[in-house]
Amino acid sequence: MSRFRLYPTPEQETALLLQCGHARYVWNLALEQWSMWTRDKRPAPRYVEQARQLTEARAGFDWLRAGSQTVQQQALRDFDQAVSNFYAGTHRRPTWRKARLHEGFRIVGGQASRILRLNRKWAVVNVPKVGWVRFRVSRAVPDAKSYRITRERTGRWHIAFAAIPPPVPAPGSGEIVGVDRGVTTSAALSTGELLSCPGFSDGELKRLKHLQRRLVRCQRGSNRRQRVRAAIAGLHARARDRRKDWVEKTSTDLARRFDIIRIEDLRVAQMTRRPNPKPDPGRPGAYMPNKRCAKAGLNRGIRASAWGLLVERLEHKALDRVERVNPAYTSQTCSTCGHCAPANRKNQAVFRCVACGHQADADVNAAVNIAAGRAVSARRETPVQVSQKREPQLATSA
Ligand SMILES: [Zn+2]
Repeated sequence: MSRFRLYPTPEQETALLLQCGHARYVWNLALEQWSMWTRDKRPAPRYVEQARQLTEARAGFDWLRAGSQTVQQQALRDFDQAVSNFYAGTHRRPTWRKARLHEGFRIVGGQASRILRLNRKWAVVNVPKVGWVRFRVSRAVPDAKSYRITRERTGRWHIAFAAIPPPVPAPGSGEIVGVDRGVTTSAALSTGELLSCPGFSDGELKRLKHLQRRLVRCQRGSNRRQRVRAAIAGLHARARDRRKDWVEKTSTDLARRFDIIRIEDLRVAQMTRRPNPKPDPGRPGAYMPNKRCAKAGLNRGIRASAWGLLVERLEHKALDRVERVNPAYTSQTCSTCGHCAPANRKNQAVFRCVACGHQADADVNAAVNIAAGRAVSARRETPVQVSQKREPQLATSA
């Protein structure tokens, strides 16, 4: 995926938002149909049936017909993919698309290749029903079969071309590295390096708190509230950019330096999920504390999502060179003598072996164990049928 900043004029922005609205409307309609479906009926309609219904709807409603058919069809395709992912167990249930939060649509096929280079820094893309929109050429524009246009909550527009860059070649040195998701840092390497993903700075956290307090005092629907929301979104966007940048640099670095990268096989999605409410047996209707606040530490959350993203990007870049290792006991086992005991863990940060006296950073010790670990990776072997118009998918992202 290579992404460029898109600079629509105010008129084009209105037209783009209209298309986003159509895509969202179609997605939500498909979601409603899918979730209302009950077992006793036929199987829920999938893409082909829904596309036929879309054609009928377009014939009936002028405002829907005014939008691009590709945009609306691709929203259905995206939804179909989301349903497949849900059934495959790799993703959660598809959710509602919300205005301001999920603004975007996808263009595929011949329409996706109408691009003109203006000069060294600028190019234009012909978006159906919108016209020629400028975007900044910050790197080589790939030859892609589809692109996606998105709007961030801060109002920044992007165009992302679906093209998978070639994986990073292995150095061929035979070196193996273990990467552990850290308690005190974002990740620890078996080489002893500690990597930490940037989150919010202290100043930003302070400003965030201040803005959040101001937000609750704002009247709903007021201009001031909108401004405060935009400022909060801006802070989050900056932290997100920083995190993504860190993930890209770190994953490229690891893929370049090591032949085999071993990581703990954690189900990250489950770990970071919100804890379930616990009903209080003494008071009906009330709930026990479930440590939800403790889990909601902001920067910790950022680290958690950075880990998931890092693993994903590593698997793209170091194709077939990432091995998942069962993490059981990696944090309690001594990496020099192999003695395994809970007492080895002096505290969260320090590991000291009760048998041989080996002392190390707890995360690094675990990373060394992971580097030596047994791979329990299982890759899907069945070939995936790929349609011409589908965005390219990586073989590893099951
Ligand atoms: Zn030991």
